[in-house]
Amino acid sequence: MSGIVGRAWNGPGHRRSTINDRRAPGSCAIIRLVTLDEQIRDAGVVGAGGAGFPTHVKAAGRAEVVIANGAECEPVLLTDQWVMANHPAQIVEALRAEASATGAGRLVIAVKAKYGEVIRRFKPFLGGTPPVELFELDDTYPSGDEHVMVHEVTGRVVPEGGLPLDVGALVQNVATLVNIRRAMAGHPVIHKHVTVAGEVRRPGVYIVPVGTRASEVIAAAGGAVLDDYRVIDGGPMMGRVLDDLDSPVTKVTSGLLVLPPDSPAVGLHDAGRNVQLRRAMAVCCQCRMCTDLCPRYLLGHRIEPHKAMRALHNGDLRSREIEAMAFLCCQCEVCSAYACPLGLSPCEVFAEFKGRNAAEGVKNPYRDRPTDSREAYRWSRVPKGRLTQRLDLEAYVGPPVGVPEDIPEPWEVVIPLMQHLGAPALPQVRPGDWVRAGDCIGDIPQGSLGARVHASIDGAVKAVSRDHVRIARS
Ligand code: SF4
Ligand code: SF4
Repeated sequence: MSGIVGRAWNGPGHRRSTINDRRAPGSCAIIRLVTLDEQIRDAGVVGAGGAGFPTHVKAAGRAEVVIANGAECEPVLLTDQWVMANHPAQIVEALRAEASATGAGRLVIAVKAKYGEVIRRFKPFLGGTPPVELFELDDTYPSGDEHVMVHEVTGRVVPEGGLPLDVGALVQNVATLVNIRRAMAGHPVIHKHVTVAGEVRRPGVYIVPVGTRASEVIAAAGGAVLDDYRVIDGGPMMGRVLDDLDSPVTKVTSGLLVLPPDSPAVGLHDAGRNVQLRRAMAVCCQCRMCTDLCPRYLLGHRIEPHKAMRALHNGDLRSREIEAMAFLCCQCEVCSAYACPLGLSPCEVFAEFKGRNAAEGVKNPYRDRPTDSREAYRWSRVPKGRLTQRLDLEAYVGPPVGVPEDIPEPWEVVIPLMQHLGAPALPQVRPGDWVRAGDCIGDIPQGSLGARVHASIDGAVKAVSRDHVRIARS
């Protein structure tokens, strides 16, 4: 398929018609148009560039400004750049639809100033009412973080522990907007654009059926050129090293990076959390570089990672200070990959405390609403080029514009029922059922935050569990 041509869908739980007529006595039929957030929910759209927040929930709010997030600030990833270069019209159409649904009067596409060709391709679609602005970003990390993005475009600071909608902003990743445009035409999310890069024979951006095993995607990119390698799912900063190369591609997989085992990017994620905690207790010199470069601290939030490290160093393993600050950490890894001269990881420390907070039901006490960022914000942002160099990834950076390729349709897909924030989808099929690509195979549990899940190939359902649905091609 081409990048955005989809298949018809008619699965269980899905309303095929876009109108619903109810007859009132003695009157004409009452037509109720399906709203944008219902179309998005039916299509199972989730944030394609992050944690998979269900998009229909965001789209149901009110906003003053809608921002298309095309920052793609993680080194090596090309997914959003190629999506923008190939689908500018769809992105603008979806942005206009979102603005109309949320009441927003300002529409912005935020993209790196250095992506000249991408900007050139957007320009023919920006006129009309309301007009769409192009906002050119510096090449820094993490400019794609929603809080940073909102501050760059609007000058406002999202409150501690808050959302962009708290300051009137709705931020949608550009690949999410393409999926919204497809949802408006009745097409569910069953494919994902994925950057395959690093030590592979044919790096590029590939269009992958959701549920395809990572090993098959790497094979489709010509295979690895090394015998011994590790694979990062996502970007080198916020991704994770795969333990199992049969892990499936999901709606939020932005990249598969094939790297030597001793790559600094692999090391960033590979040192176990316990090792990181022990190192933090032993050697932190309190230079406070981690705090001075922390993007959330720079925005004015009360997160100071060096203080968390001090508490650990003092043996305070149940520190309320770390416990609370963990809520303000976005896990961007600037502290560990770039700031700390000793290679320590406040990010991992906060991840440990976030887990404990969730398990113990601790609530975020921080709700401050800074009105401006700290003075150092302007000069303390991390240049992406230097970060790429630091991670020894310069050799793997590809061109910002290209045409994504389809991978061969796999014989089998394993589709996770949890590819989003919230509750897992409830299976709607049983072993032995036949499904077509686009059929709904998992629905949102009543009253829960979640997202629908659809078959990505035609075939027979081979297995169903609480975690996944396995489909073999017919
Ligand atoms: S990962 Fe580090 S730099 Fe990023 S927000 Fe958390 S403490 Fe700050
Ligand atoms: S940058 Fe490293 S050594 Fe310096 S305070 Fe932070 S964790 Fe400690």
